[in-house]
Amino acid sequence: MKIILLEHPRSITPERCNDIANTPLSSCLISGYAAGMLKKCGHDVEIIEGYLDRLTYGEIENEIRSIKPDILGVHMVYHWRQDHELFGFLENLKDRRLASTITAYGFYATIAADNILKQSTAVDSVISGETEMTFPALAEAASTGLFTPFLPGLSVRYQEGIRCTRRRPVKDLDEIPFPVRTEAQYRLPEVNILGSRGCYGRCTFCYINSFYGTGVPWRGRSPENIASEIAAINAERRAGRFYFTDPNFFGPGLKGQERALKIAALLKPMNIFFGIEGRVNDIHDKTIGRLVDAGLRHILVGLESGRDESLKRMNKMTTVDQNEQALRVLRRHGIEPNVGFIMFEPDSSLEDIRINFEFLKRNDLLANLPVTANVLYHHQIVLEGTEAYHMLKREGRLQLRDSSYEGNTCLKTPGVAALANIMRGVTNVLFSRMAAIWSGKIAETPDTRRQNAEINRILVDTFENCLCQLEAGEQFDDKHIRIMAQNAEREINGSLNKSYGSDD
Ligand code: SF4
Repeated sequence: MKIILLEHPRSITPERCNDIANTPLSSCLISGYAAGMLKKCGHDVEIIEGYLDRLTYGEIENEIRSIKPDILGVHMVYHWRQDHELFGFLENLKDRRLASTITAYGFYATIAADNILKQSTAVDSVISGETEMTFPALAEAASTGLFTPFLPGLSVRYQEGIRCTRRRPVKDLDEIPFPVRTEAQYRLPEVNILGSRGCYGRCTFCYINSFYGTGVPWRGRSPENIASEIAAINAERRAGRFYFTDPNFFGPGLKGQERALKIAALLKPMNIFFGIEGRVNDIHDKTIGRLVDAGLRHILVGLESGRDESLKRMNKMTTVDQNEQALRVLRRHGIEPNVGFIMFEPDSSLEDIRINFEFLKRNDLLANLPVTANVLYHHQIVLEGTEAYHMLKREGRLQLRDSSYEGNTCLKTPGVAALANIMRGVTNVLFSRMAAIWSGKIAETPDTRRQNAEINRILVDTFENCLCQLEAGEQFDDKHIRIMAQNAEREINGSLNKSYGSDD
C-alpha cells in the first residue's frame, strides 16, 4: 500500500511563545518509527515534513495529490488554537477524494481520540499509543478490505459512539526497526535518538505514561541496540552530535545506572557528543562522570520546585535536597544543566513563590537569561491525560475554553495569579524579540553578553519587586498588573533596541 505520514505545520501564537508542552520531545521520531515498521511489512511509505520543511497546506496538498496514498497517517500535534486549520485541510482532502483513509496518531491524538473523532469526520481512526503494532495491522486490513472496528489499538466511530480498543505497546524495543530519518531531520543541529520509552515517575502534570498506557512504565532498548543505531548513522552521515529524546534516559534504580554505564562504555570510542534528559534522583556521580567521559555535554533535569511541599503536590517523588545534590554533581563534571521548573502551579502560595525564588538564587539559576526567562515564568500547563487535569476537574476548578484537551484554572492565590500575569506578559515580549537571536538566525552583536545581563537584571528585579509588594499586602488590580508589565517591557525593549535596533 502507498502510505503517507504527515508531520503537519505547527504555529506559535504570540501569547504562547514561551510554552513548550504541545508535544513531548520524545514524539519527534514517532513517524519515523511507524515508517520503519510499515516498510518492513512491505508498504511504500513517504514522510512529509510539513513542520520542519515549513511547507504550506497548499504545498502539502500538491504532494499528496502526486502520490495518491491509500492511507494518510497524520502525526497530530496539539498546537493551541490552530487545530481548526489542520482539520479543515483534512476535510478538504476527503472532499476531493485525495485520501480515502485518514488515521491520526501521536500523543494528542491518543489522549483526545474521542474529541478528534467527534469533531472531524475526515479522520477515520486514531491509533492509540505506539504505532508499530497497530499501523501495519490497519494497512493489512485496508489492503484486504477486512477492516473491522475491533482492530486492537484503534479508536473509531462505531454505531452511535466512539469505540476504543486496548493499546498495543511494543514488548521488546530491540525487535523493531530503526526509525526512518528524513533529510529535514538530518538538518537539525543534533540527531535525535530514542533510547527508551515511558517513565517510572508519576508527576501530576505529565502525560507521558497516559500515552503508553498501562504495563511496564519504562522500557529501555539494550545499550548494544542503541550503539549500533548510532554507529550506522555515523557511518552514513558522519553525525557527531546526538540527543536522547527519552523523557527519562535512566531506567529505575541500580539496573538503570548499570545500563547507563554500559551505554557510556559503548559510546566512548565513537567520539560523539550527546545530550539527555532525566530525573534528579538518577544523577549519580560515577554514572555522570562516565557519561561525560563518553561525550555527554547537555542535560535537562526536572527540578520543578525549590520547596518540598510543592514537589509533593506534583508527586515528583524527589526532594529539594536531591535537586541541589544533582546540580552539584553535574557542575562538578562541568555540565551546566537546563532545568525544568514550574514556578506557578494552581495551588502555589506567595510563600511557595518566595521559597522558589530563594532556591533559584541560592543555586545560581538566575544568572543566564534564557534560563531566567523560563524559571521565572513557567506556569503549569493542564492537559487532558494528566493527573492534575482530572484532579482539577474533580474539584470543579477546571476551566475549558476552545477544546477539552487543554484546561485552565484560576491560580488559588490572587497575588500569585497577578505575578504570573505580569511575568507572562514580560517574557512573551522577550521571547518574541529574542526568537531569531536565540535560534541562531540573527548573529549576536559583540555586546550581547552585557545586553543579556542587563535584561536578566530587569527580569529578576521585576519579579522580586512585585513579589515584595505582594508580600507587603498590596493588591494588584488589572490596571496595576498592566502598568507593572508595561514598565518592564519598556525597559526590555529599550535595552534591546540599543543592541539590535527597533522592532518597528
Ligand atoms: S519525571 Fe515526571 S515529568 Fe519527567 S517524564 Fe517522568 S513522569 Fe514525566
